Amino acid sequence: MAATLNDLQRTLQRIDGKGYKAYQDIAGGYDFGDGLHVFVDYVQGDPFAPPSRIRARVAQETTQLPREFSGAAIRRLALADFLARQTRRAIRNRTGARHGSGKSGLLTIDAGQQEILPRTAIVLTPDYAEARLEAGLPAAGRRILGREAADLLCEDLPRVAFESLCWNSVAQDEARAFVECAENQEAIRAALADLGLVAFVADGSLLPRESGASDRPLKPGDAVFFEAPEALAHTIDVPNEARLPDGRRVRQLRGMGIPEGVTLIAGGGYHGKSTLLKALERCVYLHIPGDGREYAVTRGNAVKIRAEDGRRAEQVDISAFINDLPGGRATNAFCSDDASGSTSQAANIAEALEASANVLLLDEDTSATNFMIRDARMQALVHKNFEPITPFLDRVHEFHERLGVSTVLVMGGSGDYFDAADTVILMRDYQPHCATAEAQRIAREMPSSRAKEAPAPMERPIPRAPLPGSVSAAKGRKAVQVKARGTEEVVFGEEAIDLRAVEQLVDPSQTRAIGYALHLATAYMDGKTSLARVLDRVEARLGDDGLDALAPANRGSGHPGNFALPRRAEIAAAVNRLRSCRMKQRRD
Ligand code: ADP
Ligand code: MG
Repeated sequence: MAATLNDLQRTLQRIDGKGYKAYQDIAGGYDFGDGLHVFVDYVQGDPFAPPSRIRARVAQETTQLPREFSGAAIRRLALADFLARQTRRAIRNRTGARHGSGKSGLLTIDAGQQEILPRTAIVLTPDYAEARLEAGLPAAGRRILGREAADLLCEDLPRVAFESLCWNSVAQDEARAFVECAENQEAIRAALADLGLVAFVADGSLLPRESGASDRPLKPGDAVFFEAPEALAHTIDVPNEARLPDGRRVRQLRGMGIPEGVTLIAGGGYHGKSTLLKALERCVYLHIPGDGREYAVTRGNAVKIRAEDGRRAEQVDISAFINDLPGGRATNAFCSDDASGSTSQAANIAEALEASANVLLLDEDTSATNFMIRDARMQALVHKNFEPITPFLDRVHEFHERLGVSTVLVMGGSGDYFDAADTVILMRDYQPHCATAEAQRIAREMPSSRAKEAPAPMERPIPRAPLPGSVSAAKGRKAVQVKARGTEEVVFGEEAIDLRAVEQLVDPSQTRAIGYALHLATAYMDGKTSLARVLDRVEARLGDDGLDALAPANRGSGHPGNFALPRRAEIAAAVNRLRSCRMKQRRD
């Protein structure tokens, strides 16, 4: 016979006032009645330790979640993300005051911010909806507060579960709009390739953010809504009515398409160039309704490239950009513990290609000048024989011609790029204009007079295989030590990996997932398998078993309710920034 709500209440009465360890007695599953099952997976060791892990599972007969929202994968993903937010809201509205020591009375769920991501906080199956929560079991000092625990687990928890997982009590219109908006975004992304576009930004989008420290939208009264210039306009049909940030409702979106090839975003300072690029970076992910960027969509494997001096580089083939370094250092297998601005940017490109990026996003604000440009006068002063760098300018077209990799580049500082650009977008007063013909005319009438510098046609960078043993999550007696610090850093084994320059990492739960994904990846590292293959295997595993596949590394600490899916590029970025990692070049 399964334990019931009554059994849990009795146990809590019995252990009231005892030492904290007695909480271990409540581990297990309970039938709360009305279709709710509660599982106490993991009980924290003391009030200050990481909180306990609890699942609340409500049967489909009770939730009555409409099947139309849980059939297609995109709809299920969006509904789960929405329900996590509902659960967070229900927890905030809970009446009971928290008191006690440490994390006493705390109840949390790992819900998202501006992006909609596959995450483990909510599980939807045809049979049930499950919320995975963390709870701080109440104590005074180290003595169990049985009554407060009963309030938390037997009153608040069921109320939160029914309120946030049952279709009758959720905000249905909001849920529907949320799911349909995600589905629309996916439809746009699916349409991009056929249209030959790398990104699409709908008219009526609101791209600027509240501040440099916030990812929320700028207040509509202060913002200029995006509107595509006629020459770059496309229309895309969406499956559901779209509510645009400017308030319009449409079934067909008009917006700016950024074509494959080389695109330059030019314009005066402070006219919205970086804001547009930042939106493109973020729009590899789905956004929530009301974000302002919910109808801006970029191809899923677009990667932001920037300079990152000081980073580690391991056997990276940067010979497309850097040759003949002083001292004769090899650049087709470049190693450094302290890469420079230009070599780090070159390494970031080589590694992005290795992780299968097919769009590169660059901003002059975060690029090394000598990596981006070398004008005629500098060519005259510093002879090519004494300049190791082939500027990006002389390669950018080849990227598209030879490798099929497109580039979108913010450049307000050098017109030398006019010769290389297929499309020129001019930002003026936060609005885009098409300036391709004008820029081409200027390029003809005012030649840059610089000599093209590419020494030889470029090739894809040489693949590398990570060496076993050089990537390890172990620390001391612990087999797996992973800790995420926001989106800035992940502690992995003995090391902390600096991820501050990995700008498309958007959620701390992605960072955590990356730590465990690296551990999973070590199983495939044998010194022969290329990093690209290792990433394939990790992705295949996550595809087959979902994000829960990262959990075994975490065994003993309960449900893995706080993972969000990272992209392949960001998993690769973490390996590439792990200073202990050693690689060997090999072509497979
Ligand atoms: P640039 O890169 O061209 O110098 P930014 O993109 O950094 O310019 O934008 C400069 C400022 O203008 C930022 O504070 C940004 O938030 C604001 N901004 C950008 N786009 C808009 C817009 N569409 N409406 C209102 N403010 C905007
Ligand atoms: Mg800028």
